[in-house]
Amino acid sequence: MKVKDTGPMPMSETVIDQLSSNDFLRSLLATTPDGMIVTDRHGRILSFNHAAELMFGFRAREVIGENVSMLMPSPHRTQHDDYILRYLETRRRKVMGRGRLLTARRRNGDNFPIDIAIGEAKLDDEMVFTAFIRDLSEREDARKRLQVLQAELAQVSRTSSMGMLAGAIAHELNQPLAAIANYSETARAMVSDGSHDLDVIGDAMAHCTQEVMRAGEIIRRLRGFLARGEIEWSRASLQEMIGDAVALALADCEGAGVALMIDYDPEVDMVFADRVQIQQVVLNLVRNAKEAMADQSEQAISIVTRRNGPEHAEVVIADNGPGISPRLSHRLFQPFHSTKAGGMGVGLSICHALVEGLGGKIWAERSALGGAAFHFTLPLVTETLRILEN
Ligand code: ADP
Repeated sequence: MKVKDTGPMPMSETVIDQLSSNDFLRSLLATTPDGMIVTDRHGRILSFNHAAELMFGFRAREVIGENVSMLMPSPHRTQHDDYILRYLETRRRKVMGRGRLLTARRRNGDNFPIDIAIGEAKLDDEMVFTAFIRDLSEREDARKRLQVLQAELAQVSRTSSMGMLAGAIAHELNQPLAAIANYSETARAMVSDGSHDLDVIGDAMAHCTQEVMRAGEIIRRLRGFLARGEIEWSRASLQEMIGDAVALALADCEGAGVALMIDYDPEVDMVFADRVQIQQVVLNLVRNAKEAMADQSEQAISIVTRRNGPEHAEVVIADNGPGISPRLSHRLFQPFHSTKAGGMGVGLSICHALVEGLGGKIWAERSALGGAAFHFTLPLVTETLRILEN
């Protein structure tokens, strides 16, 4: 079949017929999870598959024959015809061929990020462009959610690293205290040896006051820093909290080789806890598991949620690493015990403090995978609690 280039109008019906009458092509377009749009050389839409309908919110019959720029936000919207013309003249690829990140526009006017790969083909003599489009908004949402989570967790790490905090307080307060001791000692010496130089004594006392104010300011700042670490109780889904924390723990490429098995019990999903703190616990335990298995070629982590008695959910995070060193077993959850070069040994003590603070328990056992298994419990949102809340 030959198709003549008839210019912008009327539309080349034959190409559309050809596209839509080809069963194989049609079934391919209908089933591909990517949006696929075929346009002619003038940018008019010839074919619009089902995935594209879902993505953009238009039915195929509403857009076929329209200019594809209607699916783009400005400035692409107005520049699109120029892009095509320039491409046809110069054959210089700007979007052609490559996977590119762009923004597209839904029927309701919302813009969303897409990954687009454009190819060109000849259908008989007529040039057509094919665009494969992937909606990245979910991926973008997930990325943003992880960023927020990371910031929140950093805050918890900061406030819950009690050992480090104690060190910071000692260090910061030491300087004004040493200065106060010096100035008051100078003043006392002058009074006791009879050299009553009131100007110098007055000066020393003024310095003392200044340093006391400085110490007070340090304490005030630290108090503000700690206040944000208060527990924020809410009903929270274990599945969601664990999913986010694991994604974060394995987000770097080091997590790529870890075989991860997660088995949620939907019956015990809603707990009463502080979402961010639980994510911190899961993050610590998964990171520890990953670090313990670092030298192994086969790395496996299994996460299970299940019931523990009538009122609690239990989470088990197990690995196939070397297991807990016997010399640590009695003080695993005490701070400053670590077998890692450069390890602070505070991670598990933080987990312990956070879980107990939320009314749960944490302990370690040997895992069925051969390594360590960390278990913790949390109070379920029980019937009683539901009634109390309502
Ligand atoms: P750190 O990671 O800084 O050492 P933690 O308190 O998180 O601090 O861990 C304390 C110690 O517990 C680790 O040094 C390690 O010896 C041991 N440990 C923690 N998790 C595991 C695990 N999954 N497998 C084996 N040992 C572990």
